Amino acid sequence: MYSIHINVKRIILKPNEEKRLLQGHPWVYDNEVDRILDGPASKPGGAGPAKLELKDLIPGEAADIESFRKTYLGRAFVNPNSKIIARIYSPSKEGVDKGFFKRRIRDALERRTLAPGVLDLHRDSARIVFAEADFFPGLIIDRFVGWPLKDIEAAVTLRPLTFDAVEAALGKPKSWLAIQFLSFGMDSRREEIIAALEEVLEQDGFIIPDNTPLGKCSGIVEKSAAHVRELEGLPLREGLLSGDFPAEGIVIFENGFPFMLNLIDGQKTGHFLDQRDNRRIAASYAGAGSTGAAGTAAVHNDTPVIRVLDAFSYTGGFGIHAAAANPGVQVTCVDASAEALETVRINAGLNGLGDSVATVEADVFEYLRSAERHRTAGPQEQFDLIILDPPAFAKTRSALEGALRGYKEINLRAINMLKPGGVLVTCSCSHALDEIRFRYMITEAAADAGKRLIMLDFRRQPADHPALAGYEESLYLKCGIYRVL
Ligand code: SAH
Repeated sequence: MYSIHINVKRIILKPNEEKRLLQGHPWVYDNEVDRILDGPASKPGGAGPAKLELKDLIPGEAADIESFRKTYLGRAFVNPNSKIIARIYSPSKEGVDKGFFKRRIRDALERRTLAPGVLDLHRDSARIVFAEADFFPGLIIDRFVGWPLKDIEAAVTLRPLTFDAVEAALGKPKSWLAIQFLSFGMDSRREEIIAALEEVLEQDGFIIPDNTPLGKCSGIVEKSAAHVRELEGLPLREGLLSGDFPAEGIVIFENGFPFMLNLIDGQKTGHFLDQRDNRRIAASYAGAGSTGAAGTAAVHNDTPVIRVLDAFSYTGGFGIHAAAANPGVQVTCVDASAEALETVRINAGLNGLGDSVATVEADVFEYLRSAERHRTAGPQEQFDLIILDPPAFAKTRSALEGALRGYKEINLRAINMLKPGGVLVTCSCSHALDEIRFRYMITEAAADAGKRLIMLDFRRQPADHPALAGYEESLYLKCGIYRVL
């Protein structure tokens, strides 16, 4: 062992500011800093380390964090231009180079393959790096496994499309990565990170428990257009970083159902992988008998039709699952984005759903207001299952009050539009809104609607979106499933 002496600055916190960090929270805010010292304490008799100002920190550089009483708290990337001036990436004085990134990527991949049957990285698309919760502050990497849409359309006519049919026609699937650099520390090391990724996945041939390598990825697309980059003083950036991405998009399989996505044009990283498990569970409530819908239809001696509203549908993740998993389901997907709805129609086609999926381009608030007004027109205006999966209304704590009004309005109207016995699947991905307040908002909405709710399930995010204990911001996804009486 040998060590190279590198002068790493030290950030000393004010008294009693270390508790949160000792519990695992990785951020230091600018108002928690007592002083900054240039390098280690000097030998007895020598001059003490020079005192520095916040502005002397170089964005992206590594620094050590210590409590007021000099307890070592970890090594962090700093950014003096952000309110979060340091993000701890290691509990020890670990340097960063390509080898460090390779180890961290391998660790994150291994964690995702530990529990057999949860994720099969040869078939399933997954978030392989989830920022702070994988000890990569501000780095997100989604890996998509599938085939180019164009190749599938040319070779496979079977609908609904299956993974096995495509594999038989086109061979093993390819993979693509979508990457978001959301902190200065990560952004300033982008080349090293990409090289590390390519080496782990391609050259070393990362081996998963079934003894086969994951294989070379076909393209890496940057999706760093998130607003949080502006808080770090970084420009928004998107585009192909290496390899290529098919212009017509690719098809992945989620819970066995095909979904088309386009990493170049899509929102966030192209497909919301965090709702994978919730979509499957929500779909099970669209089955005849699980919503009370079949009973209503039987009275009229009709073919049972189960009506599902997928509000804030994006590319139809929830609605397509509900229709593809159950016969007799009619889905209405509502979204403000015309492009997203175009993809809903492609997804309906891939799943052999034809005209059982309708799309409505509208503001969901407007749509629910007007649908509720026409509710008296008859039972055809009512739904058996409603999914509400809005974007984060509360991006910050200060926006919470206004956001809660928005959440309550859509939940209240959805409750009013469900048939007796119908099921509400209601989500929030705002990390600033905690579970207790989210559930209280739903309770208030039900009370205002004069309805009783039974909670059937309350779900969070899947295993490839882990949450770090002590860092509540990482436990962001809430998905309540309620029967409305
Ligand atoms: N349920 C989706 C993800 C939803 S993401 C899935 O399973 O993949 C949020 C979606 O809400 C985006 O597609 C966005 O276009 C849409 N959106 C945002 N505000 C909206 C509004 N006021 N009315 C309708 N759609 C909206």
